[in-house]
Amino acid sequence: AIMTSPQTYQPVLDRIAAEIEKTPGRGRPADYIPALAACDPRRFGMAVAEPDGTVYGVGDWRQPFSAQSITKVFTLALDLAREGDALWEHVGREPSGNPFNSLVQLEYENGIPRNPFINAGALVVTDRLHTQTEDAAGTLLDFLRAESGNDRLAINESVAASESAHGDRNAALGHFMAAYNNIDNPVPVLLDQYFRQCSVEASCADLALATGFLARHGIRADGTRLLSRSQAKQVNAIMLTCGTYDAAGDFAYRVGLPGKSGVGGGIIAVVPGHCTLCVWSPGLDERGNSVSGVAALDRFTTLTGLSVF
Ligand code: GLN
Repeated sequence: AIMTSPQTYQPVLDRIAAEIEKTPGRGRPADYIPALAACDPRRFGMAVAEPDGTVYGVGDWRQPFSAQSITKVFTLALDLAREGDALWEHVGREPSGNPFNSLVQLEYENGIPRNPFINAGALVVTDRLHTQTEDAAGTLLDFLRAESGNDRLAINESVAASESAHGDRNAALGHFMAAYNNIDNPVPVLLDQYFRQCSVEASCADLALATGFLARHGIRADGTRLLSRSQAKQVNAIMLTCGTYDAAGDFAYRVGLPGKSGVGGGIIAVVPGHCTLCVWSPGLDERGNSVSGVAALDRFTTLTGLSVF
């Protein structure tokens, strides 16, 4: 059925949560740092936010979790808002077909990463945002607090330290791109900003609200404009084609929405003009996307008829 009234979001969420609870095989939490490995894969939460800030939720929808690569959407938007198309001289906009932390492609593409959502591209975006603002992670945190209305949102510094201790691949990406003059700040400074960015903790409710500007065609929660209508469309398009890495084709096929996943088990998604979603369940598939998260978004678009297609 095509959904006509937002009042029906709550029964849809309740139904999805009940279905997910009965589903065996929920994947495995990320194991590259202890804080993520300790998460229980049976946890599940989901929130829907309307453009006016009304939020519906089910399960662990108010439980903060490690946002990880979901933050790449916000740093991209914050940098695009500041420097516009100049960003695209430093990072591409094509799906990579490779895992999120891949080093291949960089060498034969002269240190220009394929897109802003694989780690290499996100490092470039954070580097540029840091040059623009002198505090990329702080700028991100301020934005998330303002859009979610939650002043308690914070960076988990012990997760950031753990990211850093296990950050050899990201360090390699940073140094490699620096060798092509595609990194502006000293690589250790950039890595510190990037690991702190990944370690922001927020709930499904917080992240669904913070994503609202992409459903409002670039307008922030306070009514001011962050992105032009065209830029908001561009960010949504990149989420659709690149937001779930080498599973972006399957995600578009199953869910049919712009989405962005993180290895903490969260996924945000946008129904432009209608609503934003965030789902969290820490068990991942082999490509680093939440198994129950993708399943829940798949059910949401099927049950409501809301998708970009
Ligand atoms: N901190 C993780 C990393 O950089 C984030 C990756 C992700 O969420 N996909 O490897």
